[in-house]
Amino acid sequence: MAIIDYKCEDCGEKFFEIVNASNRDKVICPKCESKNINQIFEGKCLGGANKSCSGSCSGCSGC
Ligand SMILES: [Zn+2]
Repeated sequence: MAIIDYKCEDCGEKFFEIVNASNRDKVICPKCESKNINQIFEGKCLGGANKSCSGSCSGCSGC
């Protein structure tokens, strides 16, 4: 089980989900229920150069 950060590609919502083997393929956006979401990987955040991070990912303290 892991807490994984996601970003919805349809509405831009960022959220996290507690994911395990049984639900990891069923994660949807809590705002628009889209399945068009991408995982935000910890450590991917590059001090603002990466537009996918706005400081809300668990891997940084606000970039
Ligand atoms: Zn969405």
